[in-house]
Parts: sequence; C-alpha cells; structure tokens
Amino acid sequence: MLPHPMDAAARHAELCETLRRHEHAYYVLDAPTVSDAEYDTLFRELRALEEAHPELQTPSSPTQRVGAEPREGFVKVERPVRMYSLDNAYDEAELREFDRRIREMIGEGFTYVAEPKIDGASIEVVYEGGAMIQATTRGDGKVGEDVTVNVRTIRAIPLHIPDERRFTLRGEIYIRPQDLEAINELRATRGEAAFANPRNAAAGSLRLLDPRQTAERPLRVAFYDRVEEYADSHSAMLEKLAQLGLPTHREHGRCADIDAVLAYIAAFDRRREELPYETDGVVIKLDEVRLRDSVGFTARFPRWAIAYKYAAEQATTRLRTITCDVGRTGQLTPVANLDPVQLAGTTVSRASLHNLDLIADKDVRVGDMVIIQKAGEIIPQVLGVDVSQRPPEAEPWVPPSVCPACGEEVVRAEGEAALRCVNPACRGRLLAGLWYFTRRGAMDIDRLGKSLIEQLVEAGLVADLADVFAVPAQRDALLGLERIGEKTADRLIAAIEDARVGRTFSRLLTGLGIPLVGSVAASLVAQQYGDLRTLLDTEPEAIEATLAAVHGIGDKIAQSVAAFVADPEQRAVMEKMLALGVVATEPVREVVEGGTLEGLSFCVTGSFDRKRDAIHEEIEAHGGEVHKSVKKGTTYLLAGDRVGKTKIEAAQKKGAQVIDEAGYAKLLAGEALEPPDESTETETEEPTEA
Ligand code: NAD
Repeated sequence: MLPHPMDAAARHAELCETLRRHEHAYYVLDAPTVSDAEYDTLFRELRALEEAHPELQTPSSPTQRVGAEPREGFVKVERPVRMYSLDNAYDEAELREFDRRIREMIGEGFTYVAEPKIDGASIEVVYEGGAMIQATTRGDGKVGEDVTVNVRTIRAIPLHIPDERRFTLRGEIYIRPQDLEAINELRATRGEAAFANPRNAAAGSLRLLDPRQTAERPLRVAFYDRVEEYADSHSAMLEKLAQLGLPTHREHGRCADIDAVLAYIAAFDRRREELPYETDGVVIKLDEVRLRDSVGFTARFPRWAIAYKYAAEQATTRLRTITCDVGRTGQLTPVANLDPVQLAGTTVSRASLHNLDLIADKDVRVGDMVIIQKAGEIIPQVLGVDVSQRPPEAEPWVPPSVCPACGEEVVRAEGEAALRCVNPACRGRLLAGLWYFTRRGAMDIDRLGKSLIEQLVEAGLVADLADVFAVPAQRDALLGLERIGEKTADRLIAAIEDARVGRTFSRLLTGLGIPLVGSVAASLVAQQYGDLRTLLDTEPEAIEATLAAVHGIGDKIAQSVAAFVADPEQRAVMEKMLALGVVATEPVREVVEGGTLEGLSFCVTGSFDRKRDAIHEEIEAHGGEVHKSVKKGTTYLLAGDRVGKTKIEAAQKKGAQVIDEAGYAKLLAGEALEPPDESTETETEEPTEA
C-alpha cells in the first residue's frame, strides 16, 4: 500500500537525505557505509515513490542525477557529452519489460549486444593527434575530475594510438581481484582501512592526489565506448578499438533477441569467475547506433541500454564469536566466527568484520543472527544484523585491550580505525610475516602452509624470516614434528632449497614486508641495487637520496626503505639470510622502459630463428602478455614459418590480428601497426557458444 501523501513527502525527504549521504561516502570518499544491495533497495523505494507521486520529484533527487559532485583537490572538467549511469534490471521480467519498451519505440529489425559489466570506476580518456591528452572521472556526469596525471601512470593505457583523430573513449578502470589482496596488505602497513571491494579500490586509486601512489596500484582498463561516431554498430566499434591496440573486454556477444540475451547472461554467469576482472552484471545495449536516437535518454541513463545485475549471494547465520587476526604489521582485524552456512557454493564459517568502526556502526553482537554476503569480495562480509532475533543477553562487543597472540597491550592510533600490537616479538606478527614472506608473489615456498609455519614456530625451529633457510639442515627435528613424514619433510626441504637460490631480488624485497613497499616499488628498488648485499652495503642516507629520485618511488617509500635497512634488527635478519646462502639477484632487463607491449597479448606459433621461449620472455619483459593459445582477447597471433591456414583463420575468427616477425619488431619498437583490412574483420561469435 502506498503511503499517505503527507507521509510520502516525509519519506521522500528522508530517502533523498539518506541516499545522498550514502552516495557521498561511496562516490566521494570511496568508503561505502552500507552494501550496494541496501543502497539499491532504498533507491528503488525512492523511484517507486516518485512514480506514484510525480510531484515529489525534483531535479536534485538522487533518481535524477548520476554519481556525486567531484572531490575537492581536483580540477573540474565540464565535458561536452555527458556520461550517464545505467538503468538496472534484476530479473528476467525486468529485462523483458526493457525489451518491450524498445520494440514499442523502434519496432523490429534490431540487434542487442551484451557485454560484461566490469565492476570498477568509469573513466573518459581523450586522445588527439595520436597522444593521450586528458582523462576524467565520471563525477556527476556533466562535470568530472581531471585525473590525467594519475591515468598516465597506468601502464595498461596506451599513451599513443596509431590514429590522429580525436578519440574520446569511455571505459572502466579496474583492479584484478587477486591484486586487491596485495593492495590491502599495503594499506594495512599505512594504518589505512582495507578497501571493501575492487571497485572502491579502483575509484580510490584513480583519485589519489599523489600520482606516484597511483603508479603503485596495479590498475587496468577496458574501454567500451567511443563518443565520436566510429562504426555503425557498437560491436564493430569494439572490434575497431581492439585493433588499435586499445584494451577492451573482448567478451561481447551479439544477440538477435531478448532470449539470446538471456542465454548470454546464463552462459556468462558460469564463466565470469575465470575472467581477470570483477563483474557485477551484464550490460545490454542496442547494437545499431543509428537507432539509438529514437530511443533517447532519461536524466540518468540511456533508454537503449540496461545493466542486468547478478544477485549478490547472501545467507543468514549465527555469530558465535568475534576474534582478531594479527597481521605482520601488528594490525588487528576483527573476524566473525559463524555457524557454518552454505554461500555461493562454499561452506562459510568466517566472515570479515573489516574494522572496529564497522562493528560499532552496525552494532554487531556475539549471539546475533548476521546477514553475510559474498559479492566480489575475497572473503564474505558481514552486512548487518537481524535485530529481531537478538538473544536478550547479547552485549555490545568490547574490543580487546591486549593482543590475542602475545598478550601485550594494544594501541589505537589517533584517527585510525584499527587496533595495533606494537610488540616486535609478537608471535602473531611473526606468523603473519612468515606467511607473507613465503607466499606466492614473494619467496613462493608453496609447501609451507599456514599450519606448518605454526608448527615450525611452535617447535622453536623458526624465530624470524631468515630461519626458514635453516630448516633444511634440521631434517631430524622436522621428522620429530607431528604429521611430518619423510616425504613431506623432503618436499619441504626441496622447496626451501629452490627458494634459497631461485628467486629474484624483487621477490625477496616484496616478501620482507618493508612498510609501503609492494611488488611494484620492490621491483624498482631491486633494479636499482641488483642484490641484497649491495643494498646492505649502501649508506641509508644514500639509499634515501637515490630512491627518491627514481620515477615511481616517492619520498615516503625511499625513507621507508632506508629506515628498514638502518634498523639493526632487520639488518640482522637480512645478514642472516645472506649467511644462509640466500642468493636473490635481479635480472637486468633490456629496454623495459615504457613497456611498448603493455596492454597487448600474443600467441606465438610456427618456427623462428630463435626459441619460442625467448620470444615469450621478450614479450613479457616489454609489458605484454603471452597466451598459450589464441582466445577471445588475444591481440596478436605472431606467426613464424610453417603455420597452417586453418590456424590463421581460426585466430582471425577470434579477433586476433595475424602478424609476422617484421610486424612484431615494429610493435617492440613502439611503432603502430596498420589495422588489418576491413575485409578480414570477422563477426563476433554468437553468445550461445560462450
Ligand atoms: P552502475 O555501477 O550500476 O552502472 C553504471 C556504470 O557501469 C557506468 O557508469 C560504467 O562505469 C559501468 N560499466 C561497466 N561496464 C560497462 C559497460 N560495458 N558499458 C557501460 N557501462 C559500464 O551505476 P553507478 O551510477 O556507477 O552506481 C550505482 C550503483 O552503485 C548502485 O546500483 C549501487 O549498487 C552502487 N552504490 C552504492 C552505494 C553504497 O553506499 N553502497 C552508494 C551509491 C551507489
């Protein structure tokens, strides 16, 4: 039943106020305080209310606006062509309704194109004379923030394209889910709260006031639109962008009708987990550009497109206890321990509570029935509490005053949302540090799982990071541990031996966990010094001065590295590693500067004068990606001698451009290739095959 007009006006005002608050937290601060589902529910309520009482709708209502005002500190740019949001559909019925409206307006004889809705931050990038000249965020659609300097640091964005015309491109800046974990680690070292999901991380990274910090973030981009008319259809435009070497999602499918769209959605849902980006839905657009004008826009979105959103999976279960995990920097992260429950195909018994503020804001209490959600996040999050099921004895949660791992008092720094254990000898910190040191991306000792690390520490075999390399000499002691047989011990020893001499210096530096130094900074430091001995033999003042001058490292990172090297305890650990025979050097890479193959992917086939592996290495050293076989999204098939016609045709069919060594040499040198003849352009595969 609809509210009484008076109530409706009051509810309308209340909803507008609440939504604006959420929008500010989400778009301006990149720190949402409610889940998207909660926001969407309120938004839909507002929309329904305005449909029933059109007189309540004002131009400033959240239903009439996109995003939020730009953040202070950035130059505002008014764009000639507005950026829109997208209308949402949550089920088949809503999609069929969208289709009915379109057919009502333009009749039959059109095609849909369906493509991934990448969950990142929107961006507009302008090229002119072949050079990238401006990048802006969506802002409120009309006015965006100028983030050109930040976007220039994103290696996936080509700074030049082989076309002199003005290109106003739109796309999504995103962070791969696996990279988010590393970023959150780094944020923890700075005492900053973890990003809730890849989208907030992308939006936040784009709008850092210091572009050197943006450079540290592994941002990527997928373009999905060009403002200037470029082709008759959206799908042809996407193909052309890809041929220019511009990164696109390469996942679109043309659909003859709404049933084919539904088939694409179902097929895409089965494989979206495998994609290198987070998606929260599928965008459906009218493919024929000439028909779009007759369909038009509302204040907020085009009527010729809609976003189908996959439901975030939620479950309700009992919260048994709240414990705190201790990170290697001493940060305490509260975790909800739950009665096991099925969620998104897995059994979940732990969920993130993020930080103390979240527990207080949502008033989460032990004994509560909590709603948990998994939607893109790496581990499920606690969304909220069903207060109606709260046991009478449930008390507000009191944060610990001592570290759960070592019992020392914890501190909460001014302005920080986290508690921290500052005891350098804390066992919890050691365990987390060892885990960080041995994980993939660092020393990569995959035989050392969490429980084995715990056993080694417990038995006194490992008391710091360097001790890992002393383990092989203690085979007998290893065999004395519970559940460690000869096989396990020997495999572990072999893995440690492999890591002792088989890792690059940048991996070692990453693993040491120097505050502020993630894998990108570590690789820059490693390239500067080549190996650990040289770094340790350099005066900290000289390290600071040298690194501060390196492009991509800022003063703060330079100071942090110098302080780490100067710290007697850290030095002792690093010296011990060297004494234990750790050899980690950085291979000198040729002309990596500029990464001429950044954003491009290659499949190499046929025979060449040199080994294919050498070509693979060269591609990677220049920032390109190697694909073992041609798939949708492979930019080039590099064909040597004796390559069959069928292989070439199959590659072209998948949208890859076939090049020879001469073409490859041009790309390596940073020159552009002519796009292939239009006649070789191929139809996109039908979605049902996906
Ligand atoms: P949206 O994210 O639902 O969709 C529009 C955006 O999708 C576009 O601007 C574009 O950036 C992106 N996109 C990705 N792939 C695309 C493609 N192939 N083609 C076109 N666009 C593509 O809309 P929005 O306006 O950015 O945000 C609204 C949503 O944000 C809400 O539905 C809600 O879920 C969330 N939100 C949450 C809060 C909160 O407090 N939790 C607050 C505000 C908004």
